[in-house]
Amino acid sequence: MASVRVVLLGPPGAGKGTQAKLLREQFDTCQISTGDILRKAVVDKTPLGQEAAAYLNRGELVPDSVIVNLVGERLKEKDCENGFVLDGFPRTIAQAESLERILKTMGIRLDGVLSMQIPHDVIVDRLAGRRSCKNCGALYHRVFDPSTRGGACDQCGGELYQRDDDREETINTRLNVYETQTAPLVNYYGQRGKLSEIDGVGKVDDVHRRIIQALGGVGN
Ligand code: AMP
Repeated sequence: MASVRVVLLGPPGAGKGTQAKLLREQFDTCQISTGDILRKAVVDKTPLGQEAAAYLNRGELVPDSVIVNLVGERLKEKDCENGFVLDGFPRTIAQAESLERILKTMGIRLDGVLSMQIPHDVIVDRLAGRRSCKNCGALYHRVFDPSTRGGACDQCGGELYQRDDDREETINTRLNVYETQTAPLVNYYGQRGKLSEIDGVGKVDDVHRRIIQALGGVGN
């Protein structure tokens, strides 16, 4: 089985979570979706969750130190031995530099960074209609990819809900945060020869195929 060690980069709503899951399944790697980890911590009211809750609600980034430690620990777990898909991390230059240091001490390197591109109006439509399963985290869209069971998850029957930070007021903050703090990573990884640009518009399977094509011989 080929292994991959990749970062999915892109604005909120680019489809990173959906594509991360497909890559995890295809390559049998771990999937590290920092937003999912933080949301679970908030629900479970862990110390991490208590620290992160206000940032998530405002659509702002949690402090670099918090998230870097979390990812550093997660990467050492057994299911990451065959590779990883990072979704939502790194999100700042400082996080990218920390990731470089962490991977160096582990004696591994990134295969590539997939920069998912999507126009602004598509982002807003996707985020405003996004629904997630409270139980298993499966993703739906109210219009483009609805559950066949109304407000219940097709996969497990769990209740579907709208993320607090997908409400219109917070979407704008998150897009601003992306532009100012995360978009500079496109150049950062471009200069290091790691970047592949992926057209994120279209059907999930088509985007997945573009990603596989961009990964080319990675890990083989
Ligand atoms: P996401 O599900 O990736 O859109 O993340 C949801 C929220 O979690 C973000 O708006 C941030 O508040 C927080 N978050 C997720 N990943 C990071 C990260 N790498 N650095 C800082 N905050 C993050």
